[in-house]
Amino acid sequence: MPPESSPHVTIIGAGIVGVCCAAYLQREGYAVTVVDRLEPGNGTSFGNAGSVSPSAVLPVAMPGMLEKVPGWLMDPLGPLTIRWSYLPSIMPWLIRFLRHATREEVARVAAAMRSLMETVFDDYEAILDGGTFRSLIRRNGCLYVYENRGELEKAGWTLELRRRLGARMDEIGGTEIRQLEPALNRRFELGIFAPENGSTVDPHELVKAIAGQVRANGGRIVRADVTDVEIEGDAPKALVTSQGRMPVDRLVLAAGAWSGNLARRLGTSVPLETQRGYHVTFADPGIDVRRTVMWNRRSVFVNPMTPGLRIAGTVELAGLKAEPNYARADRLAEIAAEMFPELNTRQASKWMGHRPCLPDSLPVIDRSPRLRNTVFAFGHQHVGICSGAPTGRHVAALLAGRPPSIDLSPFSARRFGFFT
Ligand SMILES: Cc1cc2nc3c(=O)[nH]c(=O)nc-3n(C[C@H](O)[C@H](O)[C@H](O)COP(=O)(O)OP(=O)(O)OC[C@H]3O[C@@H](n4cnc5c(N)ncnc54)[C@H](O)[C@@H]3O)c2cc1C
Repeated sequence: MPPESSPHVTIIGAGIVGVCCAAYLQREGYAVTVVDRLEPGNGTSFGNAGSVSPSAVLPVAMPGMLEKVPGWLMDPLGPLTIRWSYLPSIMPWLIRFLRHATREEVARVAAAMRSLMETVFDDYEAILDGGTFRSLIRRNGCLYVYENRGELEKAGWTLELRRRLGARMDEIGGTEIRQLEPALNRRFELGIFAPENGSTVDPHELVKAIAGQVRANGGRIVRADVTDVEIEGDAPKALVTSQGRMPVDRLVLAAGAWSGNLARRLGTSVPLETQRGYHVTFADPGIDVRRTVMWNRRSVFVNPMTPGLRIAGTVELAGLKAEPNYARADRLAEIAAEMFPELNTRQASKWMGHRPCLPDSLPVIDRSPRLRNTVFAFGHQHVGICSGAPTGRHVAALLAGRPPSIDLSPFSARRFGFFT
């Protein structure tokens, strides 16, 4: 328990990023309150693919994407799609996003993300007790599968890039694929096995476990919708919430895809969009899948989890408010059956989540450029589970005024250059 006199930090958001910030701030000696309108882990952190991959460093914007935009508009069930009705709203973001689709940018972003994520397993282990860590996170590798050499060769330069950054990416053939994952369709003839990667058996349980430890260490978790922030001079003074006014001393904004409005209120305008993704979880898959399998061509991850076998992925650009298009989830179920011919697809649940995404595929992990005692931690796009615990560690260092252990300049809140 922190002493009564401990300095206090309020964190907006009880997703993976918010609870990791809370846990690391407690280690720094702060008393913490986490505020969320939902129970911990019920936002985007609830239903992701659960991959914990320090080699998942590539940005979403990749060379050659510009030519694909017409296809994104025409195929509502494709790996990346844009809703026509959302096109005018997303156009400025899309232009910025496509500007990052160069090899130079891919290399820059990958290096920054590698530096953030390479400590991910140690960083979770530090905030979970040993038994809980081992029961929730496994490190048994990740398998990327390809149907032919041409497909693998297309990915060749990104594999080299990741290897240069220290990631192990071992090429394997069909026999080894079948030894690792006997249930996979035999059409996958080539694979990349990344042994340093792993996954969580349930991202929701992971957030709940960290939130439980934050509570056990004296932290408060409050269920309230934050509608505004009162500012006095150059510091946040209070949150205006559905449960009334909450005075604050120090503030962390970790509200995932919903951080944009609150960041603007705190004086910094960021081009935050959501890349919506879907999952289908098969409660009784009837097959043995042992680790995360990614099918690159379809942009999907399959992961065996406590709730069942989950297939998740794809990107839909349609904003925060549009209704889910569960035909996209049905398409994922078809892909899962293609990958695993013996899969029992009955008892399937569907879900849609909002990935928080900036156009350069890098999160913001930085002090507020405008306000004292305020730190931003959002925009973790496709890899919030892979980068949640490291982010918490760096946020705690920023608030404590210690130099961070990595170069945080790629994650600067100033990089978009808009202040209000
Ligand atoms: C289909 C899919 C698959 C994915 N697969 C992976 C994967 O395999 N590995 C991986 O690392 N990442 C994956 N991700 C990405 C990962 O899920 C996200 O990056 C991560 O969950 C973001 O965490 P967060 O804490 O920033 O946001 P969230 O989990 O969304 O948490 C933000 C919280 O803030 C709260 N909030 C927002 N606004 C307010 C407000 N005004 N007042 C009060 N509370 C507020 C929300 O209720 C929410 O609980 C995937 C995502 C999707 C959609």
